[in-house]
Amino acid sequence: MLELFAAKPETPIYSVPKRDGRKKINTVLMGTWLGVEKTQGSFLHVRTAGPDGWVHKNDTRPDRVLKVFFIDVGQGDGALIETPENKRVLIDGGPGRHTYNYLTKWQYQYLLNQANSTVHIDAIIISHYDADHYGGLIPILEDRRFTFGTIYHNGIARFRTNTKKKKRPTRYDQDLGTTTGRGKNRVLKTQFSSLTELLALEQTGEDAFQGIFRRFAHACRDAKKEGRLGKLKLLKQGGAVPELTDSTHALSAEVLGPVLNVNSGKPVFKWFSNSSHTRNGHSIVLRLSHHSQSMLLGGDLNSASERHLLDHHGGAQPFHVDIAKSCHHGSSDFSIAFIQAIDAAATIISSGDNEGHSHPRADAVGAVAKYSNAVLPLIFSTELARSVNSEGDILFGMINLRSDEQDVVLAQMKEAGANRDLWDSYMVPFQPTKHHKA
Ligand SMILES: [Zn+2]
Repeated sequence: MLELFAAKPETPIYSVPKRDGRKKINTVLMGTWLGVEKTQGSFLHVRTAGPDGWVHKNDTRPDRVLKVFFIDVGQGDGALIETPENKRVLIDGGPGRHTYNYLTKWQYQYLLNQANSTVHIDAIIISHYDADHYGGLIPILEDRRFTFGTIYHNGIARFRTNTKKKKRPTRYDQDLGTTTGRGKNRVLKTQFSSLTELLALEQTGEDAFQGIFRRFAHACRDAKKEGRLGKLKLLKQGGAVPELTDSTHALSAEVLGPVLNVNSGKPVFKWFSNSSHTRNGHSIVLRLSHHSQSMLLGGDLNSASERHLLDHHGGAQPFHVDIAKSCHHGSSDFSIAFIQAIDAAATIISSGDNEGHSHPRADAVGAVAKYSNAVLPLIFSTELARSVNSEGDILFGMINLRSDEQDVVLAQMKEAGANRDLWDSYMVPFQPTKHHKA
């Protein structure tokens, strides 16, 4: 079957081979797969994920676009990138089973439905080891229908917190490992890159790891044993992500953080006041470029680490992008200078109903709007995109990004009526339309 892809930000599908608005049966986003069954004049009859129908030739393109799916994982981060080369890269996986369910029951169901088929994930990038970013990767790693290339991570492990009954090995003075120095000069020395180094941190017979981290380490160990996993690798400033690098399609990834210090000739992590600030603060910060467009994914940075990154990168301004994922789910712990440096035309906030966090915070939402130079800055929220049907079932709120050689479109699905998809879509940067004028 000839494969084509939708070319328009919102591409119409008709029940008849002509552009007849009343016969429009569906709208698919730019880059959506179209399987051509037959041709009639300028129209093609195509199979799509929704109802099959007719599409105009001029609304199709021969190759893929860049797609990013910001999955509604609740309170957490999880995004799937599909590149124009059809590489699949997960950036975090949220907590729980949202990402797993999305991949198996929706995105790759058509592949998994075929007997003995497997789905290859070319790379996983774990911004940092907090459960709301990597806990949801465990069921995916455990499922033998999935194979994996490289797991990139920030290298900071999680050891158990000391309790009366159970204590971590005494060589780790913190739940992130061994620290040295005082005050501003305090640093975390313990780190790992490969799977072997990870497993060595938990020596035989020891119960050193925090529970979810232990499950993750063992899931990696087992996937490796079964021949389903390539390698683990610490990713830091200046590192490379070949899976997101493709010169043919003008796609590249720059790693802006974590920025490590050097102590007695060895790379170490600056200690940011406590364990939580330190592991969040050293999140992997990725700047993705596609043609003239750029996107920043910065895990759970906080104000101290944002200043650390700005100091390191100086006037180079690599943080300025068109689209940014809001750091730390829209927490109040942000630096205005950093938001100004980003100056995004569109921001995506990934968060959930979690009374303990109350993300996103009002000041964070206000800041990304105020410190953007866009005429109309766009702010998307997985929590706002989420909808509930009349039976009370949660229909998860995905934010879709599609990017071709020229344009970026961001879209969320409207609460669908009948058997068709309705989109709320925006070009980035967004230009005011007639009805916005006073
Ligand atoms: Zn988080």
